[in-house]
Amino acid sequence: MTPHLIVSYLTSRAGGPGSGKGTQCANIVEHFGYTHLSAGDLLRAEAQSGSKNGTMIENMMSEGVIVPSEITIKLLEKAMLENENDKFLIDGFPRNEENRAAFESITGIEPEFVLFFDCSEEEMERRLLTRNQGRVDDNIDTIRKRFKVFLESSLDVINYYNSKGKVKKIDAGKPAGEVFEAVKAVFAPIR
Ligand code: UDP
Ligand code: MG
Repeated sequence: MTPHLIVSYLTSRAGGPGSGKGTQCANIVEHFGYTHLSAGDLLRAEAQSGSKNGTMIENMMSEGVIVPSEITIKLLEKAMLENENDKFLIDGFPRNEENRAAFESITGIEPEFVLFFDCSEEEMERRLLTRNQGRVDDNIDTIRKRFKVFLESSLDVINYYNSKGKVKKIDAGKPAGEVFEAVKAVFAPIR
């Protein structure tokens, strides 16, 4: 496994949820040939598969808390090994410093860069409440908890990568088409 590039999406201020990670990942896949791995989607699939950790994962996600690293990393590793592509976008991971350090030491992979989607809390909340994807965590109580977890835990990851000069910040509060123009400017030189 020799992934060329890993991109992790997180946002500033009040939280990653609703910043448009999934939407922009789909655009990047289409234009730049990456494989999109959403940590949240992998965990949702694992929860629904009826595996031994399924109920625990489901409960943790409905509370908006971070699932143990070991579980998420195993799912990401498996997905990378099963795929022949060497360019991956990892979406919504790592969510805290422990996730990050464990992923890097277990897989030996470091991201080439990190895209940071900067969006206001009001706008993220509005998007989450109108997207209707049937998710157990898209209700106002869990959304507030997810914002809190983001500020308390996920921003540390951004600070870490920032200190390594790896963070590329995108203004994600605009309509999706405009946001993608900014994303393209980041990917075009390295394609
Ligand atoms: N989650 C987690 N670890 C991860 C990614 C997701 O524990 O690496 C859990 C966490 O409970 C989170 C939920 O899955 O609140 C939904 O994550 P997802 O990335 O799908 O949603 P987003 O917050 O980006 O809308
Ligand atoms: Mg998502």
